[in-house]
Amino acid sequence: MLYQRSSALFKEAEKYIPGGVNSPVRAFKAVGGTPIFAKSAKGAYVFDEDGNRYIDYISSWGPMILGHAFEPVVNAVIAKAKDGTSYGMPTEIETKIAKLAVEMVPNIDKIRFVNSGTEACMSAVRLARGFTDRDKIIKFAGCYHGHSDSFLIEAGSGAVTFGSPNSPGVTQNTAKDTLMAIYNDIDSVKTLIEANANEISCIIIEPVAGNMGCIPPKKNFLKQLRTLCDAHNILLVFDEVMTGFRLAKGGVQELYGVNADIVCFGKVIGGGLPVGAFAARDEIMQHLAPLGSVYQGGTLSGNPLAMAAGLAMLETIAEDQELFKRLADKTEYLHKGCAKALNKHKIPHVINREGSMISIHFTIGEVVDFKTAALGNNERFKQFFHGMLAEGVYLPPSAFESYFLNDALSYEDLDATIKAVEKVASTL
Ligand SMILES: *Cc1c(COP(=O)(O)O)cnc(C)c1O
Repeated sequence: MLYQRSSALFKEAEKYIPGGVNSPVRAFKAVGGTPIFAKSAKGAYVFDEDGNRYIDYISSWGPMILGHAFEPVVNAVIAKAKDGTSYGMPTEIETKIAKLAVEMVPNIDKIRFVNSGTEACMSAVRLARGFTDRDKIIKFAGCYHGHSDSFLIEAGSGAVTFGSPNSPGVTQNTAKDTLMAIYNDIDSVKTLIEANANEISCIIIEPVAGNMGCIPPKKNFLKQLRTLCDAHNILLVFDEVMTGFRLAKGGVQELYGVNADIVCFGKVIGGGLPVGAFAARDEIMQHLAPLGSVYQGGTLSGNPLAMAAGLAMLETIAEDQELFKRLADKTEYLHKGCAKALNKHKIPHVINREGSMISIHFTIGEVVDFKTAALGNNERFKQFFHGMLAEGVYLPPSAFESYFLNDALSYEDLDATIKAVEKVASTL
């Protein structure tokens, strides 16, 4: 495959955009090489500027669950654009998508739309702090909740895991309010709660983690969190930016039968346009301005084009009773095929999967948290990534990202992918 135009475009982009990209993971830093510039996409495929075609397992990092350029979404956006693209006034379509989301997701009464997953999580935490009148939050190492200051924290050293900033620009004072627990380790949460009695406003979690590869919660882990939160008047925040409308109509709350107090959305809910949202029961949401005193707002929040795309997306998902089963079946098929191909060439690996999320870790032993995810052989991952790319399969360019399958993938595409895995595995 030739990447001449991508290389030239990247050089030009680097002159005007830091690192040539508007979001770091696109830069291929984790895998080396030159990022590929997308030109168009349709169904299961992305086409780059050099005319190469890839079977796409990123699905724009999640949103494209129905495949690229899905017609009802595209048509809804075109139709809406003709009426003007933003007014700064309320519109009917905002209520339509809000009503549908509230019907689809268990245990929420009201939903507020924002412009990104980052904004959703940041606002959810502010709301939790305002509601409980407490400052601290617990998050889990390896979970990603966007790039707002409170979340750019890593586990500190020492016995008591106070967070410390993991980006310059995040202050120590912000970091001290973010406590770090270990995913799938309920004792780590108990320890933090005991050491900070009556100071913790919320626990925020990716209820199925997707930002350290795919890591499902252990049996009962979410239920145990719920019980702890109830016992200590702590709000449980599910960050379903990745899992919402992807793993089930009602997300992980429905899938695992555990209620959260605040739920964050992004990705699928915008149908590929910039949308995030957070939702909760009335009792909590009424603390939000203009009803309550917790401030949150946005010039382009609930933008009509974004709402049109999101509504077309959610309507399709709501109507299609078989969607999640189809996606899970395809993912299982891919899992089995990849495992067979890797085993044939004796490549040690662990595959984690939940619904249409899947990740291959080049390690032995189960991958259940950030520490075990980080044990993966990154050199091998890089080789695998570039090998698959050369075979026309676009995987996430980082070992810490989940693949996202979309409904446009055919079994022929999956077979071609498995064949590519087999070929690449023979070279590892
Ligand atoms: C992508 C993601 C975010 C951030 O969303 P952006 O739209 O990139 O700001 C937050 N939480 C999770 C779980 C995500 O996967």
